[in-house]
Amino acid sequence: MLRSGDEYLAGIRDGRAVYIGKERVADVTDHPAFANAARMYAAMYDLKRADDMRDVLWVEDGGERYPAWFLKPRDRRDLEIRTAAHRAIAAFSHGLLGRSPDHVASSITGLSIGSQVFDRDGGGFSERIDAYYEHARSGDLYLAYAILPPQGARKPELYQSADRSPPTLRVTAEDSEGVVLNGMKMLATGAVFADELWIGNIIPLAPSQVKESVTCAVPVNAPGVALWARKPFGATQGIEFHNPLSHRFDESDSMIVFKDVHVPWERVFVHDNPALSRDIYVRTPAHYMSNHQSNVRFAAKLRLLVGLASKVARSNGARDIPAVREELADIASMEAAYGGMIDGQLQAFGETGNGYVHVNPRYMYAAINYAVEHYGRICDRVRTLMGGGVFQMPASIDVADDPALGPVFEDYWSTADEAATERMKLFHLAWDLLGSEFAMRHDQYEKFYVGPRFIVRDYNFRHVPWDDYEGLVDSIMAGYGTR
Ligand SMILES: Cc1cc2nc3c(=O)[nH]c(=O)nc-3n(C[C@H](O)[C@H](O)[C@H](O)COP(=O)(O)OP(=O)(O)OC[C@H]3O[C@@H](n4cnc5c(N)ncnc54)[C@H](O)[C@@H]3O)c2cc1C
Repeated sequence: MLRSGDEYLAGIRDGRAVYIGKERVADVTDHPAFANAARMYAAMYDLKRADDMRDVLWVEDGGERYPAWFLKPRDRRDLEIRTAAHRAIAAFSHGLLGRSPDHVASSITGLSIGSQVFDRDGGGFSERIDAYYEHARSGDLYLAYAILPPQGARKPELYQSADRSPPTLRVTAEDSEGVVLNGMKMLATGAVFADELWIGNIIPLAPSQVKESVTCAVPVNAPGVALWARKPFGATQGIEFHNPLSHRFDESDSMIVFKDVHVPWERVFVHDNPALSRDIYVRTPAHYMSNHQSNVRFAAKLRLLVGLASKVARSNGARDIPAVREELADIASMEAAYGGMIDGQLQAFGETGNGYVHVNPRYMYAAINYAVEHYGRICDRVRTLMGGGVFQMPASIDVADDPALGPVFEDYWSTADEAATERMKLFHLAWDLLGSEFAMRHDQYEKFYVGPRFIVRDYNFRHVPWDDYEGLVDSIMAGYGTR
């Protein structure tokens, strides 16, 4: 099934409990904080259905059409189809929607490819994850996830001594029908726009955290689920001209609060098993597949940054200065290198051992680390190219329509090659990407969406062929003695 944009929008008008501060949002598709982004997702749904998007955004299998991010790759060609889908979605938002519908879906596809892991300690849970994969694929669902404990959960003595409920999500009751959950999970990007939420643990739990190890899926509108959204950056901040990116692409981030939420057993995938709750992501291709999407998305953002750097330098009349050209070339070379890191993941793909393939994990994690290390620095360099341009602009474009101020604005703010209004448009777009609150959220996103830096480095450490590399040193040392 391939849903239309309208069908998608109708699906998320479901009474979900979304809060902006104490305001309960009646309809996310209609609220100024969310409506524009909801329309972007709807447009993605429409784009995906186009007939000429076969093997780009959708595939056909046994008569069923479904989004390409649910394709279980059996060879390199399948990997290329998946990457083409991520590219098309990333191009649509210029990489500004991090958890677009192809992200968590890729993780679920990877979990299903390695579903035998779910049976590692008995329990027959593999059938449930396979059924969930089928459910998400056949319904063309948009999934979001919250797979971190809240920061307040780190010191249990705080709430144990003060007679407070532990903040982190856990099973508080269970019966023949399923489990009851209470607590909170951090931090679901895109959740207010999603159909369902995946809840789990990407960071290892202590062996004692048995009840926290629950891994499950719930509809966003499940009774007892509440989404506490962070401050919105979208249309509430003014007209599109002044904030063109945050206006459309604020994907939102929410804490997910559970109050006596009942989850039926068929949607519980890990239960009372702290080690397994994390292993499912690293003993299956799930993490590789979802984070390959992140790499492809990041590459789209880099292309936008390079284009912006060039246009800003041109607008400032500095683009042909040798030192500025050199700066642009260096930034563009980083974008090109990143593109190569993505293509290399397909070139040097790996095998799962059960008939499927996955992107090269080492190159994928290196690309994540590259993004963590360089995104802020690249933004800083592009912002430096902007000089004081954005602050030369008047507070509002309404000056352009003013009979007295408009001509002054056009006379004094234009350059030889560019009208004042066009310059202002460019600098406001640049500021939205590089200096606004929306921009700073993106800076934080690129640092943390996989986890903090030390976790990203740990993923990289685990995939280095240390024996081979140390063997190179050994082989040299073996070739000579002390004399
Ligand atoms: C914009 C945004 C969107 C996100 N979207 C999602 C999402 O969709 N789904 C989801 O599940 N999660 C999401 N996250 C959450 C993200 O996974 C976590 O923020 C991330 O794992 C970091 O955890 P933390 O914020 O608790 O930081 P902390 O773990 O508290 O880290 C804070 C700082 O302390 C340092 N630090 C902490 N412990 C150590 C240590 N032992 N050694 C060295 N340094 C240490 C870290 O490096 C970091 O610099 C998102 C986060 C952001 C910022």
